Amino acid sequence: MVRGLLLVLSGPSGVGKTTIAHELIRRFGGHFSVSCTTRRPSAGERDGVDYRFVSEAEFAAMAARDAFLEHALVFGRSSYGTPREPVETSLRAGELVILDIDVQGAEQVHAKVPDMLGIFILPPDEASLLARLRQRGREDEAAIQRRFAEARLEMERARGNGVYDAFVVNDDLAGAIEQVAELVGARIGRVRA
Ligand code: ADP
Ligand code: 5GP
Repeated sequence: MVRGLLLVLSGPSGVGKTTIAHELIRRFGGHFSVSCTTRRPSAGERDGVDYRFVSEAEFAAMAARDAFLEHALVFGRSSYGTPREPVETSLRAGELVILDIDVQGAEQVHAKVPDMLGIFILPPDEASLLARLRQRGREDEAAIQRRFAEARLEMERARGNGVYDAFVVNDDLAGAIEQVAELVGARIGRVRA
């Protein structure tokens, strides 16, 4: 059976995962998995594009019928999950599928799909991570500070769990994209500029 590549991108909020993922899709085709979440949409986010925004009840029902490839409670408050069916369909079609998920989710996917490619995106330093979170303009300062604190814990866990094939520092965006594209190209056996 022809199988595509499952790319798991993780890293702190605001580190540049979405930006990098969209460039990969432009180069390699495939699709970006739209997660379900119980959190409320932030300013500018669109239902069905950035996330599928669902109620707690709907999320629980999906989990109960095994509709998620993985799901996790992130930041101790909101649930996030990757709908299973679109991922499996695309992989069967030989496509690239990109998941932007947290470290707990990546651990679950790694257990189920051991040949996934895991890439963790790191900020150049803490000050620039904070600046990028603010630049997104999505949340108030308290939420930004909470995400910043979470980021430290997540980076520590990622280093020790054996799920990630590479850690890429997103300092210069073009350079980070090249590094990630090279890893993806090597795995799918083709390179596109
Ligand atoms: P994530 O998906 O990880 O939350 P985004 O891709 O939404 O992050 O990026 C957050 C913000 O940082 C965006 O405004 C994006 O344009 C900006 N950004 C991404 N990479 C860089 C970089 N290397 N240098 C400066 N700003 C960047
Ligand atoms: P945000 O709320 O900033 O969009 O995302 C918060 C965190 O949730 C990020 O670390 C992001 O990678 C993660 N996330 C987004 N979708 C999913 C998902 O479907 N599953 C898991 N486990 N984490 C997700």
